[in-house]
Amino acid sequence: MTASAAVSSSRIFIVSGPGGVGKGTIVNALVDRDPRLWLSRSWTTRAQRPGERDTAYVFTDRAAFEQRIEAGGFLEWTNFLGNYYGTPLPEPLEGRDVVLEIEVDGARQVKALHPEAVLIFVLPPSREEQQRRLRGRGDPEDKVDQRLQKAVDEEPVGLAIANHVVVNDDLERTVAEMMDIIRQHRSAD
Ligand code: 5GP
Repeated sequence: MTASAAVSSSRIFIVSGPGGVGKGTIVNALVDRDPRLWLSRSWTTRAQRPGERDTAYVFTDRAAFEQRIEAGGFLEWTNFLGNYYGTPLPEPLEGRDVVLEIEVDGARQVKALHPEAVLIFVLPPSREEQQRRLRGRGDPEDKVDQRLQKAVDEEPVGLAIANHVVVNDDLERTVAEMMDIIRQHRSAD
C-alpha cells in the first residue's frame, strides 16, 4: 500500500488552533485514551527547547527538510515564523486514524487534499491565559511577541475552515468533547 493510499483508508483528525491554546497536551491525552488514534510526528527545523522531549518532533536542519520537500515526502509543510514544519507522509496504518497537530496553513493544505478530514479548531479560554502559556515556554522575548501576533492572525482563518470549534477551558472537559466528536464521525461512516 502506498503512503497516500494509507491516508485515504484511515480517517484524518486535524487538531489546529492558535499558539498557546494547549493543542499538544490535548492530542497526547487523546492518543493515550484511544489506541485507534495514531499521532503523526512532524519534522521541524526549530531548535529543541530546553526540557522538550526528543520525540516531540523529528528535529532536523534546513537542507534535510528541503530535500524531503523536493522528494515529495510531506503531506503538508509550512514556514512558521522562520522555521519549517511539516507532516511526513504517514506510514501504512492498519485500522488506525491519523491525528495531526498542526497550525492553520497546514490545516488548510490537508483540507484541500483530503476534504473529508475533520478539522477541530481549538480556542483559548481567554487571551490572558493564551499569553501566559506562550510566555511560559522559555522562548526568547522577541519570539514570544511574534508568536502572540501570529496567534491573533491565525484565529479567523482557522475558524473559517473548521468543522468543529472547541474552547479549551478545562483539559478533561475539552478532551471528552473531542472524543465525542471523533466517535460521532466514526459512527457516521
Ligand atoms: P511549536 O514551535 O510551538 O512547537 O509549533 C509552532 C506551530 O507549528 C504550532 O501551531 C504547531 O501546531 C505547528 N506545527 C507543528 N507541527 C506542524 C506540522 O507538521 N505542520 C504544520 N503546518 N504545523 C505544525
